[in-house]
Amino acid sequence: MLIVQKFGGTSVGSIERIRRTADIVAGELARGHRLAVVVSAMSGETNRLIALAHELTPEPDSRELDALVATGEQVTAALLAIELQRRGIDARSFTGAQAGFRTDSSHVRARIQHIACERLLAHLDAGGVAVVTGFQGTDEQGNITTLGRGGSDTSAVALAIALKADICDIYTDVDGIYTTDPRIVPNARKMARISYEEMLEMASLGAKVLQTRSVELAMRHDMPIHLRSSFELVPGTIVTREDESMERAAISGVAYNRDEAKITIKGIPDHPGIAAGVFGPVADAGINVDVIVQNISEHGLTDITFTVPRSDFRATMAIMDKVCAEMGAKSVAGDDSVAKVSVVGVGMRSHSGVARKMFDALASEGINIQMITTSEIKITVVVDEQHVDQAVRVLHAAFELEKPREG
Ligand code: ADP
Ligand code: ASP
Ligand code: MG
Repeated sequence: MLIVQKFGGTSVGSIERIRRTADIVAGELARGHRLAVVVSAMSGETNRLIALAHELTPEPDSRELDALVATGEQVTAALLAIELQRRGIDARSFTGAQAGFRTDSSHVRARIQHIACERLLAHLDAGGVAVVTGFQGTDEQGNITTLGRGGSDTSAVALAIALKADICDIYTDVDGIYTTDPRIVPNARKMARISYEEMLEMASLGAKVLQTRSVELAMRHDMPIHLRSSFELVPGTIVTREDESMERAAISGVAYNRDEAKITIKGIPDHPGIAAGVFGPVADAGINVDVIVQNISEHGLTDITFTVPRSDFRATMAIMDKVCAEMGAKSVAGDDSVAKVSVVGVGMRSHSGVARKMFDALASEGINIQMITTSEIKITVVVDEQHVDQAVRVLHAAFELEKPREG
């Protein structure tokens, strides 16, 4: 088999961990597999580098930020290659550029356009192991770009697709995908398998165990992901196509995202075009609006409330102050201490009463719901950030997610 392995920050967080990672690589080689290995920066390193830049200025240039943070992955790729070579393995490190990762030019959030992987393939065909830096590529002009936080997952899946690998093994500090973040709910249950679709919802709703884009790519190209622990070599969770053997419960997981801020525009004249007028300038600034609620209008005036990533809060407020003055709205208010909690499950399509159970559970804990949004396979509520852990726990219990199910 051809396997792309990815090792996250904690799996390469020290020399000792790099040795352990080399054990895993050597083990798979001994089983006769061909391997490309994608590595993250040592845990904490990306944050450390970003903090250094912020010591100089609050808004560092994004091209230079990319040049800076891309070094983290280069350190680990070289160290792992050195350790593998010491063991007599023909390993070689490749930067994003050397591995042929071509991206667009959106620094800090670049998207992979294609991977010119001939050089890597030649090394693999000659029996070597390729150790590739995750998280990075270069644009058409040769500028270094990075793929957004957690982007090494996406590097690994994209490389697996380009190399036509059989599977993408993602090694991390948990031994699988759980019904919710096991750091919040210790009795969360590990799933043997999860569909791309559900994993995509979980990831985009905040489950940072896999970067959303990596799941999107895996789903589009049907590249199975095995998410597993580098600390304990036990079977993890397979992310794959939905099939008969999967769970049929209404809800399969609870996700949360603290990275949210809420903005309310009050008393805006209600006529065709107001939503375009409000959200157009936000979109032009490259800001992603998430949950939107518009009230029924009274006396020709309406209120609009929406959420954006917390990091875009100040910029959005500045835009709204301007837009609202132009559109004659009464006031703009913001709150950057809200969070999103969601229940996810493909089974929701055929089960009713999920929303009611969710709202009852939150009410029983006195948690106020500020906004609600639904899709076919998820229900999301916006709540005060201080209630996130409590909300996740009560929902996990209400849907009895800790209980084993028929597989
Ligand atoms: P890496 O550095 O290896 O990429 P991450 O920190 O990005 O690791 O992702 C692993 C973490 O994701 C876990 O430690 C866990 O706290 C968190 N997590 C959030 N939701 C889930 C979930 N549903 N199942 C498993 N882990 C989850
Ligand atoms: N090192 C990068 C980050 O911390 C990419 C990754 O680890 O996936 O976001
Ligand atoms: Mg990660």
